Amino acid sequence: MMVARSVDVVLLGPPGGGKGTQAKRLTAAFELLHLSTGDLLRDEVKRATPLGVEAQGYMQRGELVPDELVGKMLMGRLHSQQAGSGCVFDGYPRTLAQATLLDGLLAELGRRVDVALYINVPDEELLARLTGRRSCPVCGAVFHVVHNPPRQEGICDACGGTLVQRADDREDVIRERLRVYHESTAPLLGFYRSRGNLAEVQGVGSPDAIFEELRAAMGRLKR
Ligand code: AMP
Repeated sequence: MMVARSVDVVLLGPPGGGKGTQAKRLTAAFELLHLSTGDLLRDEVKRATPLGVEAQGYMQRGELVPDELVGKMLMGRLHSQQAGSGCVFDGYPRTLAQATLLDGLLAELGRRVDVALYINVPDEELLARLTGRRSCPVCGAVFHVVHNPPRQEGICDACGGTLVQRADDREDVIRERLRVYHESTAPLLGFYRSRGNLAEVQGVGSPDAIFEELRAAMGRLKR
């Protein structure tokens, strides 16, 4: 009898590049667990846990939260039962040190990064997207004031929550997040490319079309 093996997918790409949206689709299509370190950190901040209190300043400035803090948070989730059939890592790894840590954590579970999907979006497009982004703090749905407005201004279509602009979606903070991305996260492309499990998809266009490209890349790379 064939036993389905778990699949672990890393989603790479700049802030505002559509990783969150596509991660939700991928997890639904392939029955994986969505692990967004950004969402997990925002939740820690909201609950004012010791980790959240420590992470908050870095996040507000658009800087990376120290590897050690994020690693600890991720480790707990990876060992959860829901993570057993595989995960989509959204926003992790963001540094080479995190990529190495992730390899180690997965190896302990007899797993590895099977696929790294890179969503490529130019900086000018990212700035326009992020400054207009509005998110629902209740259910996590994401809108855009111009490109994807909610039916009623300021109100979440999905759950009726009041939409907010993330504190780190202000233009000065976005510029810092993009700088950090180019400096620390872009080198990960070479890391996964050299292993032969990186696929690049152009992230400009309709979310449906981008998803189809990602799905096709998953089929090509999954082993
Ligand atoms: P995101 O929602 O993925 O754009 O993340 C929002 C913020 O959370 C980032 O700007 C960082 O401050 C922090 N963050 C999220 N993921 C990581 C990570 N893997 N390493 C360090 N900081 C992170």
